[in-house]
Amino acid sequence: MIGRAAPIKRKGFPLRLPAWGLLLILAAGCGRAPDRPDIALISIDALRADALGCYGYGRDTTPFLDRLAGRGVVFRNCVSTSSWTRPAMASLMTGLYPRTHGVTTSYHKYSSPQTGGRSLVPSIETLAGVLEKAGYTTIGITTNSNCGQGVSIDRGFTCFTQVGEDFVDPAEVYAAFQAVREEVQPSGPVFLWVHFLDPHGPWTPRAPWAGTYTDLTAAGELADIEYQGKVIDEEIAHSRETVAILKAFYDSEVKETDRYLEKLLGKFAEDALVIVTADHGDEFYEHGQLEHGKTLFEEVAKVPLIVRFPGNDFSGREVFSRVSLVDVFPTILDFLSLPASAGTQGISLMPLLRQDREAGPDRLVFSEMYNPELETPKISAVYEGDWKLVRQVSPPRTMLFDLATDPEEKNDCAAAHPEIREKLEAALEEWEKSHPQSYFSGAPRPDEGELRQLKALGYIN
Ligand SMILES: [Zn+2]
Repeated sequence: MIGRAAPIKRKGFPLRLPAWGLLLILAAGCGRAPDRPDIALISIDALRADALGCYGYGRDTTPFLDRLAGRGVVFRNCVSTSSWTRPAMASLMTGLYPRTHGVTTSYHKYSSPQTGGRSLVPSIETLAGVLEKAGYTTIGITTNSNCGQGVSIDRGFTCFTQVGEDFVDPAEVYAAFQAVREEVQPSGPVFLWVHFLDPHGPWTPRAPWAGTYTDLTAAGELADIEYQGKVIDEEIAHSRETVAILKAFYDSEVKETDRYLEKLLGKFAEDALVIVTADHGDEFYEHGQLEHGKTLFEEVAKVPLIVRFPGNDFSGREVFSRVSLVDVFPTILDFLSLPASAGTQGISLMPLLRQDREAGPDRLVFSEMYNPELETPKISAVYEGDWKLVRQVSPPRTMLFDLATDPEEKNDCAAAHPEIREKLEAALEEWEKSHPQSYFSGAPRPDEGELRQLKALGYIN
């Protein structure tokens, strides 16, 4: 078992003054959305969309998020830009696809003109940076070094806290949030970003939920993280029952996260803008893999996106258009009537809500996967309407799915629809040609703490 206790690292707290809860309570009393509402952006690591009750899951894993969804807008088909943390989170914070922001690797050894970079270059505008310039006090709390200071994702944050070195449970995240509330006096509205690490693997059975999802006696050594790691790495043979137990552990981490989310977001007023999403999902052998960062199937590519607007505007709405993590940045700016960031590759989703319509059928959404640490193949995907084309470069393989009739991607219909395959292949090639991979070299080597966490989370050996 790897220890969980970890020091809270902080940078840039400007002052030690009273907590900012009072400000939020005062904001709650005004009864309408201010021009610059407080904003809470929550990202939950490895939370696949279908693990939430409001996305149709049978287990009662997310009672709080389900209630939040009822008061907000649920985007039914949100696609991550990748299937691992670093490129996906950089997309969320920049509105750019990985090939443009260039954050595609985590280890210095792979940060080269051939393989890409590991941190955001200063010329790229970040969501926190734009909001800080607009008068927000920007506060970041992260738990994963893949979206921490090593990625330069802390740029634009008035204060930034990176919690823990290995596996950070939701209680530690909440404690860090409480500490920040006591230490930071905002000078304007608050933009808070919190990244929860659960339900990222390894999966700890969280009591009491895990015991209601599976027989813990039968789980045996699977609760031991080192043993679990060997199962994941296929050093120890496993069965369908083993995978079901691991999924039960995962679900218990989702429920524990939901519990602490309720406590955390309960500190925000009804007039705050609240956004909950994930960097990617996790696979449980639906397509022969465990965890993430290996494929672009829906279990890793499809993420939840729930937006609770001030005053519960648009409550109960569902959007079925395919949207992307790159859309979050321009949507927030549009909502605040701020100009769009130059070069953004996402679109504002506000017109869909204001005009009560879906996006046009010809909108293309992309996702891309390349993780040299895991020696995974380079994979790209393009979505148009319900069609999804997945292209693996090496070894070469192209698959086509009709997500309307085959949401679990069991039936590769590339041979049955050659015209769709050719059209989407051409669209993918055109997009890649017009958006060449950005390469940034010379990134600083990760420090020892980051290296330890990357290893603990399974990203490097
Ligand atoms: Zn992640």
